Amino acid sequence: MAKNIVILGGGTGGTMVANHLAKGLKHDIKKGDVKITMITNAEEHIYQPGWLFVAFGLQHPEHYIKKQRAITHPSINLVIAEATKIDKDKKVVHTNKGDFSYDYLVIGTGAVPRFDLIPGLPEAGDDFYSPEGALKLREKITNFKGGKILITMGMPHKCPVAPIEFYLMAHEFFEKKGIRDKVELVYTYPLETVHSAANVAAWYKPQMEKRNIRYVTEFVPAKVDPQKKILYSKDGKEESFDLLVSIPPHRGAKVIFDSGLGNEMGFIPVNQYTLKAINDNYIYVIGDATALQISKAGSTAHYESEYVAKNIEQELHGQTPTNFYDGKVFCFIEAGLEEGTYINMDYNHPPNPVPQSAMIHWFKHAFNEMYWMTARGLL
Ligand SMILES: Cc1cc2nc3c(=O)[nH]c(=O)nc-3n(C[C@H](O)[C@H](O)[C@H](O)COP(=O)(O)OP(=O)(O)OC[C@H]3O[C@@H](n4cnc5c(N)ncnc54)[C@H](O)[C@@H]3O)c2cc1C
Repeated sequence: MAKNIVILGGGTGGTMVANHLAKGLKHDIKKGDVKITMITNAEEHIYQPGWLFVAFGLQHPEHYIKKQRAITHPSINLVIAEATKIDKDKKVVHTNKGDFSYDYLVIGTGAVPRFDLIPGLPEAGDDFYSPEGALKLREKITNFKGGKILITMGMPHKCPVAPIEFYLMAHEFFEKKGIRDKVELVYTYPLETVHSAANVAAWYKPQMEKRNIRYVTEFVPAKVDPQKKILYSKDGKEESFDLLVSIPPHRGAKVIFDSGLGNEMGFIPVNQYTLKAINDNYIYVIGDATALQISKAGSTAHYESEYVAKNIEQELHGQTPTNFYDGKVFCFIEAGLEEGTYINMDYNHPPNPVPQSAMIHWFKHAFNEMYWMTARGLL
């Protein structure tokens, strides 16, 4: 009987791991020894980093969306369904379109921005973390005539550098528009510094000072008054705004809470080297869904997918897995509209931005185009 590999979630991590497996196990699939099923709840695959550019009107949203089927290897059984529960004892994923048994399960259900966790935020806040949010924000930014823009963040959130990019881009956007002197940019951050990574904070602080961006640290958002347009922090600080850009705290997917697999935030504890769920030999977890203390980023999911796919191949062939993820993450950072930098890190090496340049900015844009090849497992 064929061994069943089920991948839950067709985002960056799920798609990459599925495509790597389809290639690595092509002979086994042909012989009928292995079947790969990907369960995901959306017909369309979205390249989320693109929303940053959509928010500034620099690219159309359609540019970052493709049919999931088009980027999924033809040998993969793609099921568009909502998973409702994972039963790890019976090794079954329950969905609204039936049940799927597995020999190995890869969970890549991502992280969900939870606007609802901050009272008043759904009504008062704008965002670039969802397609609808980015389009609404585009209208507000491109028509902004002046006033105070405030950015607020909860922890954890995916792409820890996206708020930095947003503000450095906003500064230049309004400068080019000739109204920078009419726009007050205020950056709030929940920790003691302006970024969770010390070297990134050391790089970013003077960038803000140079551009006259005011920052407030230890600002943990508690609630928003949409009428008065005031954001309150947990310790009683207040900031008014004309436009509030929010990146709320993220939590795991509902199915993870409903299956009792995650921690209190709905993220799944894993072995940091094998990426196997703690105490479960048949479940691997990938990308934003893990409880690892590393960046929730597409790049993380990308590197992890290679290790997970190789280890599953080895296990299916009766071998001991020998691929140990080292925590590698690589992220480009836009430092305005024409320059960029990047950070590279792993479990033993913290990120440290390199000198910014126009070339790195263009590399980021080139990667945005190449993403679709990466998702297919070709790069
Ligand atoms: C504005 C923005 C900018 C970003 N910029 C960068 C960047 O520059 N570099 C970078 O590396 N990362 C960036 N990221 C982060 C990156 O997009 C995510 O970290 C990455 O997509 C995580 O991949 P994932 O596979 O873990 O989760 P996702 O890609 O979010 O995929 C999760 C999938 O699971 C599916 N799913 C969830 N629940 C269920 C269910 N019950 N049943 C079926 N399917 C389900 C979802 O529909 C989705 O398809 C950015 C993100 C945003 C929002």
